Amino acid sequence: MQERLKELQAEALDKIAQAADLKELNDIRVAFLGKKGPITEVLKGMGKLSAEERPKMGALANEVRDAISSQIEARQTELEAAAVELKLAAEKIDVTLPGRPVKAGNHHPLTRIIEEIEDLFIGMGYTVAEGPEVEQDYYNFEALNLPKGHPARDMQDSFYITEEILLRTHTSPVQARTMEKRQGKGPVKIICPGKVYRRDNDDATHSHQFTQIEGLVIDENIRLSDLKGTLDVFAKKMFGADREIRLRPSFFPFTEPSVEMDISCKMCGGHGCSTCKGTGWIEILGAGMVHPNVLEMAGYDSKRYTGFAFGMGPERIAMLKYGIDDIRHFYTNDIRFLKQFSVTE
Ligand SMILES: [Zn+2]
Repeated sequence: MQERLKELQAEALDKIAQAADLKELNDIRVAFLGKKGPITEVLKGMGKLSAEERPKMGALANEVRDAISSQIEARQTELEAAAVELKLAAEKIDVTLPGRPVKAGNHHPLTRIIEEIEDLFIGMGYTVAEGPEVEQDYYNFEALNLPKGHPARDMQDSFYITEEILLRTHTSPVQARTMEKRQGKGPVKIICPGKVYRRDNDDATHSHQFTQIEGLVIDENIRLSDLKGTLDVFAKKMFGADREIRLRPSFFPFTEPSVEMDISCKMCGGHGCSTCKGTGWIEILGAGMVHPNVLEMAGYDSKRYTGFAFGMGPERIAMLKYGIDDIRHFYTNDIRFLKQFSVTE
């Protein structure tokens, strides 16, 4: 019996050492230590032994069982560690592999131009004012010296929603609203950026929707020379320090006198080329001294207060600055066009 137990121990230890995985190890445990296993069988035969031999044999059987158990445990720890190693190896991340690029978006060229112009005027002490795109006829026209039936209304073909409500044709109603809020008191120094709408047929230079930035300054003793100085700073910062400006007489119902501002052509340095149509100058914006009627409509004393206003199209500025030949590029949003204005790639 003693020999049989020793044999079983040797056989079990050998199998445990060769067990390839946890399942096999468990099978070995059941086979040797289970209720139907060979050790139990051996112990069943203890009844036939003498009283002196029985405790010795019992102790030996326990030793054998403990030896097998502890060996199984040791092997189990080994196999578990190996399994973890294997899993780690399989899930290993190679940190030296190049990453997949994350595509970043970029500001729309119009947004960039508008923000650049805003920053420029904020730097000169202006604040940014905004207003509704669906506007009352009163603020869009009447408060700007354009009463109903005024022929100059035809200069701006409008999208009317009702008799009195329309999509604003310019950002000037924001000026009218701001002046009204001040109730004829104190200075005003604002720029108004935003979308405007006109019944134009879309082509390379026209769009039914576009953006405008207007500026308005009202205070005592504001003169045309203040306007010219402001526009000169704007033109040089926006287009380059070497650009000259000139003012030409023009007509707008809300300003008197009215002017248009040109900048000297960069392409030819003022000698005349195809970009400037041979004139040496490129038209940039319209401006003028605020019409006394507009000041009075908003509650200002036009004897005491004067002011100037200007309005420009960011599309036109962007087209000149970046050499874009078709206004529709801004709205068709072709990714190949937009990417050219990316600062991240
Ligand atoms: Zn030129």
